[in-house]
Amino acid sequence: MTATAVRPINHWIAGAPYAGRSGRSGPVYNPATGEQTGAVDLASAEEVDAAVRAAKAAFPEWRALSLARRAEIMFAVRELVHARREDIARILTAEHGKVLSDAMGEVTRGLEVIEFCCGIPHLLKGGMSEQASTGIDVYSLRQPLGVVAGITPFNFPAMVPMWMWAPALACGNTFVLKPSEKDPSASMYVAGLLKEAGVPDGVFNVVHGDKVAVDAVLAHPDVVAVSFVGSTPIARYVYETATAAGKRCQALGGAKNHMVVLPDADIDMAADAAVSAAYGSAGERCMAISMVVAVGDVADPLVDAIRARIPNVKVGDGMDPSSEMGPLVTKEHRDKVASYLDEGNVVVDGRDGCPDDGFFLAPSLIDDLKPGDRAYDDEIFGPVLGVTRVATYEEAVRLVNENPYGNGTAIFTRDGGVARRFQFEVQAGMVGVNVPIPVPVAYYSFGGWKASLFGDRHIYGPEGIDFYTRTKVVTSRWPDPSTSQVDLGFPQTR
Ligand code: NAD
Repeated sequence: MTATAVRPINHWIAGAPYAGRSGRSGPVYNPATGEQTGAVDLASAEEVDAAVRAAKAAFPEWRALSLARRAEIMFAVRELVHARREDIARILTAEHGKVLSDAMGEVTRGLEVIEFCCGIPHLLKGGMSEQASTGIDVYSLRQPLGVVAGITPFNFPAMVPMWMWAPALACGNTFVLKPSEKDPSASMYVAGLLKEAGVPDGVFNVVHGDKVAVDAVLAHPDVVAVSFVGSTPIARYVYETATAAGKRCQALGGAKNHMVVLPDADIDMAADAAVSAAYGSAGERCMAISMVVAVGDVADPLVDAIRARIPNVKVGDGMDPSSEMGPLVTKEHRDKVASYLDEGNVVVDGRDGCPDDGFFLAPSLIDDLKPGDRAYDDEIFGPVLGVTRVATYEEAVRLVNENPYGNGTAIFTRDGGVARRFQFEVQAGMVGVNVPIPVPVAYYSFGGWKASLFGDRHIYGPEGIDFYTRTKVVTSRWPDPSTSQVDLGFPQTR
């Protein structure tokens, strides 16, 4: 194996790469080989301040740009991201490890959010009431907030930032992105595309870093809103710190998504769905299925059907078109995920027969899990699928509802009445009916309940537009000589 050159990865401030001055950097790996390929600058508070100052300086002109021009720029962004989607996908595979087809899927779902934001003139329309009182009209406006920040996780290095910057910019805000330090290059590539599309310098900035950079963002008085996606403990911390500092905050956290399979379900369809949703992207998806809840006598044939499919999942380097599942993001994460296979009724152990190089763990299956087991309670975030067996539909729903997370859930059944009852009573933000990964399309909004979301607003879609704007209501009267008179009373509706 020949050693790869380690590439420096800089920040992006005021429309240009900005070499870090903190003296700190972090390693970036190719997870398929285990080699270090990059060294990412880790920002100090001063570097975060430089990015925020650039965003603050760019704000007055960007917010004053006509809607027609801002929409035109969003269309140009859409065209460039679409044209270069494979370049972006290759960067994702090289640093995250997901297979190229999955990386292309990630960019496509992000593109859908950009496309939604091309309709920004329509999305920012307010309301209007003519003649609310005699001679008086009332109308509402949506205005941008100012400098807003996004802090994102490693598992969707292109799409999750798009969930944030696309609506934020379209609404007229300027943006500071703090992407995951584990796979930071996609953000730099996209920053270059935004500049090429005509986004003015300073409107979009990237600072890389760890807790130091995040804390500097949260403490900065000129950052007025923060969107966060990541694990639940950090989401809670970001939400509490940001809101205590008077900022608007939406912080999306972790998940433990249950897939309930009823006795009347099509076993093959349910097994295909469980394998796809548990092991796609090596289980590093917040909407991955991590628990199958097998109801009644479906359990034995379902576990058999899942087990039979696992050897067919081709594990390998994501750049190899025949690979269906790539490695995990880092060695530490792989080792932590593998440690869940040290106990319990392990039906398939993915440590067997994995490639030697890189951070691989093959699909794994643990049967007979119960709340209280470590592999049930924790968000494993890897290719380890758990199965729990219950006797009734009611028990299955209770398990989902008693779980601290409430991101996504799914039910597999042929019974429309039961599916409708499930949709009515289940406590989760996103529900699939015979659909294992119910990520909402871009014109709805994405978000969980309970410990999967801190804050009031889901992300992207209509709630994303709400999050990145504040409303103003104008009550207006134009001089009309025929109705003008002195009136010292409190204004009343007439
Ligand atoms: P993470 O919480 O470790 O990191 C997320 C971000 O927070 C990164 O930018 C990181 O640099 C920063 N960070 C990490 N530790 C910090 C600290 N102590 N103080 C301040 N900032 C800190 O998450 P991750 O491992 O990158 O991503 C995986 C997690 O993200 C999983 O829990 C997954 O469920 C979750 N996720 C949730 C969603 C969702 O929509 N709900 C989507 C994707 C991922």
